[in-house]
Amino acid sequence: MKIAIVGAGVVGIATAYELSGQGNDVTVFEKNSAAGEAASFANAGIHSNSCTLPLSIAALRGNHLTRLIQATRSLSTAHWYSPVNLRWLWAYSGAGSTARGERCLQHGQQMARLGMEITDALISRGQWEVEQSAGQLIVLGGETDLERYSLALELLKASEQPFRVLDGAELQGLEPSLQGIDKLHKAIHIPGDRIMNCRQFALLAKQEAQKDGVEFHFDTEVLAIESQSGPLLRTARGDVLGFDQIIVCTEAPLPQDILRLRLNLPLARIDSYAVSVGIREPLNAPRSAVQDHASGITISRIGKRLRACGGAELNRPTNAAHDKRMIGKLFRTLDQRFPGAANYAGGTQVWRGSRTFTTDGLPVVGPSGLPGVWLNLAHGAYGWTLATASARLLSQQLGGKPTSVPCELISPLRFKG
Ligand SMILES: Cc1cc2nc3c(=O)[nH]c(=O)nc-3n(C[C@H](O)[C@H](O)[C@H](O)COP(=O)(O)OP(=O)(O)OC[C@H]3O[C@@H](n4cnc5c(N)ncnc54)[C@H](O)[C@@H]3O)c2cc1C
Repeated sequence: MKIAIVGAGVVGIATAYELSGQGNDVTVFEKNSAAGEAASFANAGIHSNSCTLPLSIAALRGNHLTRLIQATRSLSTAHWYSPVNLRWLWAYSGAGSTARGERCLQHGQQMARLGMEITDALISRGQWEVEQSAGQLIVLGGETDLERYSLALELLKASEQPFRVLDGAELQGLEPSLQGIDKLHKAIHIPGDRIMNCRQFALLAKQEAQKDGVEFHFDTEVLAIESQSGPLLRTARGDVLGFDQIIVCTEAPLPQDILRLRLNLPLARIDSYAVSVGIREPLNAPRSAVQDHASGITISRIGKRLRACGGAELNRPTNAAHDKRMIGKLFRTLDQRFPGAANYAGGTQVWRGSRTFTTDGLPVVGPSGLPGVWLNLAHGAYGWTLATASARLLSQQLGGKPTSVPCELISPLRFKG
C-alpha cells in the first residue's frame, strides 16, 4: 500500500518503520525541519511496564471527589479551573476506581510490555547503541502513598512482573547518593523498568526506515486531510497527494479545519518541563530513574546527563511564557536529592514539552471513522514506552490481521457519540 504518515516523532517513525517492514511504500510528512523535535525531544526516558509515571492512568483508590482533588493537586499553574478544564478533570479522575478504569490500567500495562519487547528486539536486531540504565524507584512518604499504587502493583503481580516495596534503608542501598531520605520513607522498586534515550532511538529508527525506502519530507506542514474517493492530503507547499492510507501521528489532535473527524475525542494538553545538565561526579548521580511521588518530579540519568522532569500545565496557551518557579524547583530538587552530581559549568538545557491525554489514560490508535484515515496519537504520560506497540497494533489493524493485544480500549471509535 501507498501510505502517508503525518508527524515524525517517535510514534510516527516507529509506525513508518513497522509499515515499511511489511513491504508498504511509506512517506512521512513533518512540519519541523528535523525528526523528534516535539514531545519526543527531551522526555524523562522512562520505559515503564507499570503505568506509574506521574499523570498516567488515574488508578488511585478513593471516591471520585478525592481523586479529582488529587488530580488538581498535580497541576502546577493556577489557570486550570475554567469550565472546560474542570469538565475534563472530572471525567479523567472518574476513570480511577471503576471496573473500566481497572481494565484500562491493565490494558496500559499490557501494551507497555509489548512496547518494551518490540523496542528491545529492534535495538538488538539493529545493534543500535541507545543510552540506557535499568530500574525505576518511586519514593513515597509512607503507607498512605503506597495505597495509591496498590492497583498497579496488584496487576503487575498478576502478570508476574517483579517489583519490591522497600523501606528507607533498602532504598538508600539501591540509590546510595540519594539524599533527604529517612527510615519512614517507603519506595517501590520496579527492576524491569528502565531509562532509554527516546530521541536517540527515534533517530536510529529513522535511519533504518530510510534504508528500507521510507521517504521523509521535512518542513512540510499538512494543511488538510480529506477522504473523498480516496484519502488525500494537502501540504503547505501546495501539493495535493493521494494515498491508500493516511496515518496521523501528531500526538495532539489535528484541528477540525485540517481533519474533519466525526468523533468527539475527550482530549487535553498537559505541558511539563525538563531540565538537563551534564554529570560532574558519576558517584553522586542516580544510577537510573527516581520518581518522587509527592512532587511528581522524576530524575533520570540519561547517558552522561541528568534530567529532572515535572510540572503539569493543563491547556495552557501555547505562547505562554515558561513557568520560572517550576523550572527553579526542578533545579533545586536535582541539587537537594543528588548534591554535587550536576556540572552547571557545562551548561543547562530547559525544555517544555506537550502531551495529549485522553480521559481514560489510554492512547487513540486505530480507524478514525473516515475511510483510509487512521489515528495514532494522545499517548499521554507514556508515549515513548508505547511507541513501538502502538505502531505494531496500528499496522496489524490496517492489514486486517489479528492484533497482539485487543484494540477495543484504544480504538478512536470508543469516543463515538
Ligand atoms: C516532560 C515530558 C516527559 C515525558 N516523559 C516520558 C517518559 O518518561 N516515558 C514515556 O514513555 N513518555 C514520556 N513522555 C511522553 C512522550 O515523550 C510522548 O508521549 C511521545 O514523545 C509522543 O511521541 P509522538 O511521536 O506521538 O509525538 P511528537 O514527538 O510530538 O511528534 C509529533 C510530530 O507531529 C508533527 N506535526 C504536528 N502537526 C503536523 C502537521 N499538521 N503537519 C506535519 N507535521 C505535524 C510535530 O511537529 C511533531 O514532530 C514525556 C513527555 C514530556 C513532555
